[in-house]
Amino acid sequence: MSHKSFAALLLISLLAAGCGLRLAAPPATAPGAAPTAPPAAPAWIDTHTHPSTNIVAIDKAGGSRADFAYCVTPQCLESMQAILDAVGANYALLMPAPAMASRGGAQYEAELASAARASPEHFFYVGGGATLNPLIHQAVAAGNVTAAARTEFEHAAQAILADGAVGFGEIAILHLSASPNHAFEEAPADHELFLLLADLAAQYDVPLDIHMDPVLVNSPTPADFLKRSSQNPATLQGNITPFETLLAHNPAAHIIWAHTANTTGDLSAELVRSLLENHPNLYLSLRLASSQESLLDRAGHIQTDWLSLIQDYPDRFVIGSDTFWGEEQATPGQTLAAAFLGQLPEAVARAVACQNAATLYHLEIICP
Ligand SMILES: [Zn+2]
Ligand SMILES: [Zn+2]
Repeated sequence: MSHKSFAALLLISLLAAGCGLRLAAPPATAPGAAPTAPPAAPAWIDTHTHPSTNIVAIDKAGGSRADFAYCVTPQCLESMQAILDAVGANYALLMPAPAMASRGGAQYEAELASAARASPEHFFYVGGGATLNPLIHQAVAAGNVTAAARTEFEHAAQAILADGAVGFGEIAILHLSASPNHAFEEAPADHELFLLLADLAAQYDVPLDIHMDPVLVNSPTPADFLKRSSQNPATLQGNITPFETLLAHNPAAHIIWAHTANTTGDLSAELVRSLLENHPNLYLSLRLASSQESLLDRAGHIQTDWLSLIQDYPDRFVIGSDTFWGEEQATPGQTLAAAFLGQLPEAVARAVACQNAATLYHLEIICP
């Protein structure tokens, strides 16, 4: 059964059951105002989730790398569905986190693809984090890309799509290490395999989900990250200029910059505005968090500069919580979504919640 017909049946049965999915619900509060009651927000798509345990959480709890596990069993899928229901989301995209080693990667990706096929009413597969990402970082380390390596890369990308992937991800340009066993990854955004991946994304019309801690110019690594993990080097390479080369390389490649996380102090609504203005193929995936430095302040209000940015570019944002499902609990990126959407004008909320993701990933679903 196609996603579309399945979704239509699901919608009918949910309506009949008086389920919590809301259709055309108006925002409960004026744009930018504090949510005072549970807001009526459209059901949303979580475009960035990982079916595994979270190595940073394991490190924090004093565990070891051996405690890392994939989460693709039927029990895991059931727990994921329950969390989606609890946070008012109707779908989640499942993707491997950006891995440095390719051993076992293809098998994991095949399991993700199969999990998504088994639950088309909840999940879609996005691939490459466990296969293409290691190939890019190995090529960077090797210092060259042979013709055979390019062919291997192209074949791996095509195999992912043949297995039902709706996009490529999660791919890392700069991934700071947040704990001893959490990988540090850095590759120039204008490396030939990134350019090739953009060409493949354009050719097959699937988006590319990118992790890039932002660095305006070559800079010392933030002290906090040096303390957290000895994997981080002393200095980081500026990545915004090469990222713009990647964006400009193939304007038909839709590139989603994930997390809007100000890990380096270089992220600002102003920087994102200039990138959105100069590169119509750039999209942002919002990982919601409440802190003074992020898009939501400590009280959960959207910061005014980010609110105007989202309102000025309503077609360029999606929500991606970066949840690791192995934790078996909702993350702030999920629990804050309804209140976040409730602060946006209705049409903007509907676009950011569901329509933009459905369009970008060509999901055959019906947005509420
Ligand atoms: Zn990431
Ligand atoms: Zn992620």
